[in-house]
Amino acid sequence: HDVPDFHTLAVACIADNGVAVLPRTGLPDSAFASDGTMTKQEVRAVTLAKLAPARGALLWDIGCGSGSVAIEWMRAARDARAIGIETRADRRAFAAENAVTLGAPALNLIDGTAPEALANLPAPDAVFIGGGLTPEVFAVAWSTLKPHGRLVANTVTLEGEAVLLALRAQFGGTLSRIAVERAVPVGRLTGWKPSMTVTQWSLSK
Ligand code: SAH
Repeated sequence: HDVPDFHTLAVACIADNGVAVLPRTGLPDSAFASDGTMTKQEVRAVTLAKLAPARGALLWDIGCGSGSVAIEWMRAARDARAIGIETRADRRAFAAENAVTLGAPALNLIDGTAPEALANLPAPDAVFIGGGLTPEVFAVAWSTLKPHGRLVANTVTLEGEAVLLALRAQFGGTLSRIAVERAVPVGRLTGWKPSMTVTQWSLSK
């Protein structure tokens, strides 16, 4: 499909956000080409805040999907760099397209599966685990993360929560749940439509 130009994106953003420029982070979901499997705007904004983008800093985005978190990381600070690891070729294709459209063409996409695909990558300043959450993936990410680096892991499954609960017992950090509801039409009226609640674990090294 076609890559939307800046004008089209800005118009989508005005419709979604009421602002006439594209924000660096917390872009509307409609700014990204995706199959719908993505971190939604409100959760993405909180996730980026906790990852704390900084000039020249490197992010690992494990299970990057359509690349929304990695791309917003790169938009947020000058010379910020990101490596997106994603098993599925169709989602890597979305990520590559979004990277170009949204001003982060240097996004480095890795075809592979964590933890194996993490071997030999340069040490990150921050890690986001948005897919493939296991104790083994965390262990590799944590051991490679630079001192004072940040790690954020999001999950919507009970299995993922079980992993996070065990990890927090060992490593500390903060567990929180983010439940987002958006107003949608219900017939001629309006009602709240909930998204799947996201459980988020964040800590610094
Ligand atoms: N982080 C994305 C959401 C992607 S959904 C976003 O914010 O928009 C989770 C993704 O993780 C899926 O695309 C899935 O293919 C990928 N994934 C799951 N396990 C993985 C693993 N072990 N290594 C790499 N990618 C993985």
